[in-house]
Amino acid sequence: MMYDDNNIFAKILRGQIPCKKVHEDSHTLAFEDINPQAPVHTLVIPKGKYVSMTDFAAKASDAELAAFSRAVLKVVEIKGLQAGGYRLITNNGLNGGQEVPHLHVHVVGGQPLGPMLSRK
Ligand code: AMP
Repeated sequence: MMYDDNNIFAKILRGQIPCKKVHEDSHTLAFEDINPQAPVHTLVIPKGKYVSMTDFAAKASDAELAAFSRAVLKVVEIKGLQAGGYRLITNNGLNGGQEVPHLHVHVVGGQPLGPMLSRK
């Protein structure tokens, strides 16, 4: 899938749409989800143009890959999630229910999160 420069997270990265920033480094940005599903719901995105985890794992540099994992850890620390536990979610493509075509990890926690998948 081609990267769409007009996706909403690309606009956030360009500063065209505001976000509530949680953490930033040269390769990643973390910000609050606009529609939180738990007491903590923060998104971590790479600054590079990667549609999905598939794209990122295949094409990102080692520095970008490392920075992304570390940024997730940073958010976990900032939000105080380590002791109580948390969940990471990355939706990929159609079956994954991905809505925004720029890789993002949802960091959710702050309360028991229930079963891993809805049983529809
Ligand atoms: P996904 O379904 O995994 O692609 O998740 C997209 C997420 O982006 C959803 O949880 C939305 O609430 C969130 N979202 C959409 N627009 C914004 C925005 N402008 N700022 C922060 N989060 C957003």
